[in-house]
Amino acid sequence: MDIQTIGIVGAGQMGNGIAHVMALAGYDVLVTDVNADALNAAMSLIDKNLERQVSRDKITAVAKADAMARIKTTQDIAEVGASDLIIEAATEHEPTKHKIFAALLPHILPHTILTSNTSSISITRLASGTDRPERFMGFHFMNPVPVMQLVELIRGIATDEPTFAACKQVVDRLGKTSASAEDFPAFIVNRILMPMINEAVYTLYEGVGNVQSIDSSMRLGANHPMGPLELADFIGLDTCLAIMNVLHDGLADTKYRPCPLLTKYVEAGWLGRKSQRGFYDYRGETPVPTR
Ligand code: NAD
Repeated sequence: MDIQTIGIVGAGQMGNGIAHVMALAGYDVLVTDVNADALNAAMSLIDKNLERQVSRDKITAVAKADAMARIKTTQDIAEVGASDLIIEAATEHEPTKHKIFAALLPHILPHTILTSNTSSISITRLASGTDRPERFMGFHFMNPVPVMQLVELIRGIATDEPTFAACKQVVDRLGKTSASAEDFPAFIVNRILMPMINEAVYTLYEGVGNVQSIDSSMRLGANHPMGPLELADFIGLDTCLAIMNVLHDGLADTKYRPCPLLTKYVEAGWLGRKSQRGFYDYRGETPVPTR
């Protein structure tokens, strides 16, 4: 099937990045969010990020203008229903995602493919609440979307081959690489990455190291481009906690229990970069460790 139009639900960190790369690849994009400010912020961020690509000679000014012209926003989720492919990229909260698919159902076309950018929630469970589990799958981008090469494609138990092939074709057209993952909690990347981040928070919690020593140990000692706590702030501590909870509940193994210190940061509203404070305080010129 030939996909031309993409609907995106959620205009946060991931939604705006997905809109950016889709529009640049020539797709017509319609983005919706419950929060009008998030839609406005997404459009100005996309503009800024495309401009950066122009200034680095990665794309032309014409390509930027064409991409911006292909992105429209709406607060009415019903309008998104008429898309060939819908990517849900709202908050990592299962009831919210079920509500979104329920709201979309009366408005989607017979051929519409439904997907979720969820980092960890069961695709099969999300699909089972819709009228088309065979045309439903996981479409998992990495953050930041314009930079990261990988997209995990996750088949639910009922996903059919034409749906998988159509999504794979979209990833190819983006110039990205897809990896196929089975539908088990947190799939591949986060199944491996999140327990490491959680362990870094335990290392901090138990006083084995402070924020700085933990991050520089992993940067210099394991050659990671970012320390795990810096990375957690980048991803969002609420998202990290949500994924650990999905691993803990879904695999029923205590090795996945979220660190109480991670929970405390989320309770404080210290969610990382997006709220200006997490394991680092980003309100000044340079990030300052908070422990
Ligand atoms: P975010 O908090 O930056 O953005 C979420 C957006 O969803 C917000 O703008 C919010 O207003 C909107 N939203 C909430 N409820 C909604 C509803 N009912 N209808 C429409 N919009 C709604 O979150 P994010 O980091 O962009 O994450 C979005 C999804 O992508 C999550 O499922 C997350 O697990 C996944 N993901 C995140 C990352 C990451 O590094 N942050 C990476 C890969 C995948």
